[in-house]
Parts: sequence; structure tokens; C-alpha cells
Amino acid sequence: HQPIGQKDFKQLLTYLQNMDQPGFRALIQKLHSYDLARLFFQLSNIYRRRLLTLLRPEEIALLMEELDLQEQKEVLAALGQKKAAQVLDHMPNDDVADLLGELEWSQSTLLLKEMKTVEADQVRALLHYPEDTAGGLMTNAYVQIFSHYTVEKTLQYLREIAPAAETIYYLYVTDVRHRLIGVLSLRDLLIREPHEKIGRIMNERVISVPVDMDQEEVARILSRYDFLALPVVDHNKKLVGIVTVDDIIDVLIEEAQEDLEQLSAVQPTDLVDPF
Ligand code: ATP
Ligand code: MG
Repeated sequence: HQPIGQKDFKQLLTYLQNMDQPGFRALIQKLHSYDLARLFFQLSNIYRRRLLTLLRPEEIALLMEELDLQEQKEVLAALGQKKAAQVLDHMPNDDVADLLGELEWSQSTLLLKEMKTVEADQVRALLHYPEDTAGGLMTNAYVQIFSHYTVEKTLQYLREIAPAAETIYYLYVTDVRHRLIGVLSLRDLLIREPHEKIGRIMNERVISVPVDMDQEEVARILSRYDFLALPVVDHNKKLVGIVTVDDIIDVLIEEAQEDLEQLSAVQPTDLVDPF
């Protein structure tokens, strides 16, 4: 992947003009989705629609990850109902919940109906939580395993579920009632012998946050421990989701912007020395 130049941009316009699928494909293979997203907003509406027609739903989903909520709404509006739902199927379910939360109720209901049942159910579960809490930030596409699994079985299981999981970096161990009893990192797993039992190698002192914890507190805890994700539990200590570091970065940026706005709202007279 390399950053996009002026030449690529002209090339892209030509491909879109001619709806040249092979040329277009060859060009976007070279691009990171961040660059594609920047390109998207340089295009006129007609070209945007053409670009969205040529992109597959999973590619649009990657592009969406690079956009803010307002921009995501614009993209969604430019898609037909069916393709929009396919794009949502491929996005992390916490991002989908955030996006749908911004739409009219009638529209989000329609999109949820059009989505795959499994994905839609996961998103519906997330829509209940206030957006500035751990529950509002979390995804429920995490990796959950049992303590009686061997390392070998866990690796095999990962091969099956990894494509759909949001992060496979930490594996969370629960009991049959879904209570969180341990955690291990992918590294912890890989350095063990195939026959070893998860229960013997997991960390039992798991740091977790309650589902109703304020997002800024969640951000502080995650940065304190330097984890890439934090598990979220309900009042029965059951695992309900994970908050990943990329969502925490967004919280920190949001917080910094609020602080800046407060600073600039200070009137000059407030700064006059009272003495
Ligand atoms: P790397 O080389 O990528 O850092 P690592 O195994 O050290 O690999 P870290 O992300 O640094 O991975 O995690 C450090 C340790 O913290 C791992 O052993 C992991 O199992 C553990 N861990 C992860 N999440 C939690 C958590 N929520 N509570 C307690 N321990 C955790
Ligand atoms: Mg480490």
C-alpha cells in the first residue's frame, strides 16, 4: 500500500468515467482504505455513487472504518437499502450500533431487518446501552473459550472464528454461566505446547470494567494497564463484550476536543488579573 498521488487520482476518475472495473480493481488494490476514504470525499456525488457501485460491500465496510459518523451517514445514504445492509454486515457491530443510533428509528429498523439475522441480533443487543458508557463502546464479537480446551483445540477454534471476531489478540475464558474466569493473549497461547490445558495457563486475575462505567474512566483504565482491549461484564460478572483500543483512542480525542472548546470559551475578561 502506498499513499495516493495526483496521477492515481486522475486515473481513478478515468476508470469511474468509463466504469472500467478491471482498471479500477488494479488501482484500489494498491491503496490503503484510509487513502480511498480521502479520495471518496474529493469526488463529486455522481462519481461517489459510481465508486460505491464498483466497490464490494466488504470493501465499503473497510472504507467506513476510516470515516467519522457524519461521513458514514453520507455513504450509507448514497447506497441502496440492500447494499447498505450488506456493508453493515461486514462492519464491527459496535460501529454499526453507533451509526444506527444516529439514524431515524424507522430507517435503522429497516436496515436491521435487511441485515443477516446473527449480525442484526448482536447489534440490537448493543443498542440498549448509553453511548458514553463501556456498554456503548463495546463490541460483542470477542473470542470466548473454556478452561478445559487444550492449546491445540483453541488454535483450531480460532481458525474457524477469527475471520468474524473484532480482535483475536486476547482470548477470554468463561465458565458455563458465561462468567469471566481468565484471560490469555495470543502470545501466551502460541508459546505453549499443543496438549496443555487453558485452565493451567490462563491469567485468573482479570481486569474488567462494568457495563455502565463512564467511557472516560474506561479509557483511563485501559491506558493504565496498556492492554489492547478490556473485557466488559454485567452486574452478575458475566462477560458481555470487549472495548478495544481503537475505540478508546476516539474517546481520548473527543475528550481533548471538549477540553479545547472549554478553554476557547473562556472570555478575555475572565483572564484579567484581579489584583
Ligand atoms: P506482546 O508481546 O504483544 O505484548 P503479550 O502477551 O505481552 O504480548 P500484552 O498485550 O502485553 O500481550 O498483555 C500482557 C498480558 O496481560 C498477557 O499475558 C495477557 O494475557 C494479559 N491480559 C490481557 N488482558 C488482560 C486483562 N483484562 N486482565 C488481566 N490480564 C490481561
Ligand atoms: Mg506485552
